Amino acid sequence: MSREFRIYNTLTRSVEPVRTQKKNHLSFYSCGPTVYSYAHIGNFRSFVTADLIFRTARALDWDVTYATNITDVGHLTEDDFTDPEGEDRMVKALKSKEGEQFANVWDLARYYSDTLIEDWHRLNLLEPTIRPRATEHMREQISAVEQLIEKGHAYETSQGVYFSVTSFPNYGKLSGNTLDNDLEQSVRDVVIDDEKKDPRDFALWKKDDKHLMQWYSPWGWGFPGWHIECSVMSMSYLGETLDLHAGGEDLIFPHHECEIAQSESLSGKPFATHWVHTRFLQVEGEKMSKSLGNFFTVRDLSAAEEDGGKNIDPLAVRMTLLSGHYRKPFNFTMKTLKGNVRHRERLEEVIQLSGHPDSGDCAYEGDFGVILKGMYERALDALTEDLNTPSALAALFGGTKMILSRSDVSDSDKSSIRAWLRDMNDILGVVYTSSETGSSDDAMDPLAAAVEPLLLERTKARAEGNWARADEIRDELTALKVEIMDTPEGPKWKRIGNL
Ligand code: AMP
Ligand code: ZN
Repeated sequence: MSREFRIYNTLTRSVEPVRTQKKNHLSFYSCGPTVYSYAHIGNFRSFVTADLIFRTARALDWDVTYATNITDVGHLTEDDFTDPEGEDRMVKALKSKEGEQFANVWDLARYYSDTLIEDWHRLNLLEPTIRPRATEHMREQISAVEQLIEKGHAYETSQGVYFSVTSFPNYGKLSGNTLDNDLEQSVRDVVIDDEKKDPRDFALWKKDDKHLMQWYSPWGWGFPGWHIECSVMSMSYLGETLDLHAGGEDLIFPHHECEIAQSESLSGKPFATHWVHTRFLQVEGEKMSKSLGNFFTVRDLSAAEEDGGKNIDPLAVRMTLLSGHYRKPFNFTMKTLKGNVRHRERLEEVIQLSGHPDSGDCAYEGDFGVILKGMYERALDALTEDLNTPSALAALFGGTKMILSRSDVSDSDKSSIRAWLRDMNDILGVVYTSSETGSSDDAMDPLAAAVEPLLLERTKARAEGNWARADEIRDELTALKVEIMDTPEGPKWKRIGNL
């Protein structure tokens, strides 16, 4: 297949082909969440975009190295500096009502990292190749700050270390916020440190020996700035130039602009070729907020009604997120969600009609196969043209309608339908069902025989608080191409990739 994969590039402000440095190999980084609370469906809109890039590139037979981070150290935001107690989001969360259940800030970070990954699986997002955590890359962050000082791009004050924006002439190339731009000036002005050489300079290290999360550095005890974390983690795993970097639209400035300044000052090379940003999600036309009661998490929507949830199939939530184009503002409404619940039910009817995925041949056969293959190609074409998910879903719904209106379904038709479901699932991830989910009933399956003992060991390790071992086991399972989902009934697992 020699299709181009075209996506809008924020850097060049045009839709253009994704250019990989190595032939058919995409190196890709997407900014993950700060784990001070449950990730909400807005965060997941951005993660779904990243998942679609991953799936589409794989469908084009590219190898993909996909890294997405977990920010498990509090943000060093402008507001934090002005906070007299020097609190950050994670520390604030610990002191809140919800925070009372946690022993300390590390426990809080661990809990919300685990729940992020559970919701990630609920929405059928594929495991990234690597999920680095900020706290596990402290040494590299400190070393990057040292190098920036050595190269004359950063300086120390009594409060911290700052990147000198004037030392990087290209500052502003992504966001258009140039050095003499008033908007940018006003944003950075709120950072209060009289010793800063320029109010726009941003923090690389904050000195703070009272902070709950602190590390020792050449500048004493403290913690890193938020931007340096992503520069360091992305370049550690993907090299000095990434093919593609993604995140939500709010990250264009300052986060991604600052990542570019730091990374290019360190390496002397372009940091990322293609920049992809997802527009914000609103709920019922309003910004999501806890006080408005429209703050949804995947677990709220999918939990049973008796547990205070809305009992919605998470794949209907995923479909709803796909129903809007990532570059347009998206209004998440209960009406759209219910419409997608219905679409999911019809897709479920197709799955039932086709028989179990392992129950026979799975290949496009005969005239009907040619038509279904054409519908898959249409969906893939839509995704390769700036991730046009509404058109890809239209092909899915069109195929569903055609299959369900067929009066007579032969065995070869079933084989074609299975192939179509497999291919559609590979690119859209909305076909997965609980019948795919392995459990201890699968004892005869050789993969299950390998997975079950590891799952038991992981449950034990988690019960004992041995998080390092639990993480190792998750990695071992990922290597076996298995995803784990922690559910109220205990851990479940499924094969990654094919149905
Ligand atoms: P944060 O934890 O705030 O750093 O956010 C993690 C990711 O979610 C970032 O890529 C944000 O841009 C993205 N994000 C946050 N809120 C929304 C929203 N309402 N809609 C879409 N993306 C969002
Ligand atoms: Zn980031």
